[in-house]
Amino acid sequence: MLNKDHPRYQSLVYRDKIVKAHKQGILADSGMIAHGRGETFDYLIGEKTTPNSQNTIDIAACYFLTSKNPVLSVNGNTTALVSKEVAELSKLLDIPVEINLYYRTPERIRNIEKVYNNLGVKELLGTDDDDFIDTPNLNGPRSPVSIEGIRKADLVFIPLEDGDRAEKLSALNKNIINIDLNPLSRTAQTSTVTIVDNIVRAMPAIITSINKYIDYDKKNLQEKIDNFDNKINLNNAIQDIIKRFE
Ligand code: ATP
Repeated sequence: MLNKDHPRYQSLVYRDKIVKAHKQGILADSGMIAHGRGETFDYLIGEKTTPNSQNTIDIAACYFLTSKNPVLSVNGNTTALVSKEVAELSKLLDIPVEINLYYRTPERIRNIEKVYNNLGVKELLGTDDDDFIDTPNLNGPRSPVSIEGIRKADLVFIPLEDGDRAEKLSALNKNIINIDLNPLSRTAQTSTVTIVDNIVRAMPAIITSINKYIDYDKKNLQEKIDNFDNKINLNNAIQDIIKRFE
C-alpha cells in the first residue's frame, strides 16, 4: 500500500504502474531501466511542465490538427503509464493506434492489444493480424510497421522511442512528434517536435491543447508551426536543466 503522505508519492505511483505492467507482460525488462532514465531527467527539470514544454505541447496540438493521417505509435512504457490518454486522443481525433515494440513477442502484443481493446480503441494496428512491411534501412524487431498505419501516415507520434527508429522515420519525410525527458537523446534530436516532459503530464496537456485549438483556422495553426524551431526548443530545455544547478 502506497503512503499518500510520502514526499515522492506521485513518483511511487508511476513506479507501481511500471512494476504492475511488467508483471502483466506488457513491459519488457529493459522498459524498467528506460523508466529510470526518464525519472532522472524528470528530477533535473523539476518534475513539472516548463513554460517551454507547454509551448511545445501547443505546437504538437497544431500538428495533430493540421495533419491528414496522424498515427499514435505506442510501446510498453507508454501503455503502462498513459493508455487511457492514448485511447482518448485516438477517439478525439479519430486516428489509429499502432503497437510497435522493440522486444516484440506474440504474448506482449496480445497483452497490449487487450488493454486498448478494453479502452474501446476503434482502429488498432501492429497486432499479429496486421499486414506489415519493413521500415527501410532499419533492422531488428522494431522494423516491421503496419501498412495501414505508419506507411500511410504524414505524422507519427512516437513517445519514449529509441533513436534508430526515429532517425529512419524522419528520413522517410514524416513529421515526428516525440515525448522524451532527455533532450539529448537521438530521438529528441531527430524529431520534428520534441516535448521534453514526463509523458504522464504531457499526454493530458496535449489533449487540453487540442481542445483549445480545435476550432481555430488551420492557417493560424500553420503559422504557429512555421514559427517553431525544434533546435531552439531543445536548447531551451537544456538551459532549463542548467538553471536548476545554479
Ligand atoms: P536514444 O536511442 O533516442 O538516444 P535512449 O537509448 O535513451 O535514447 P530508450 O532507452 O530506448 O532511448 O528510450 C527511453 C527514453 O524515454 C529515454 O530517453 C528516457 O529519458 C525517456 N523516458 C522514459 N520514461 C519517460 C517518461 N515517463 N516520460 C518521458 N520520457 C521518458
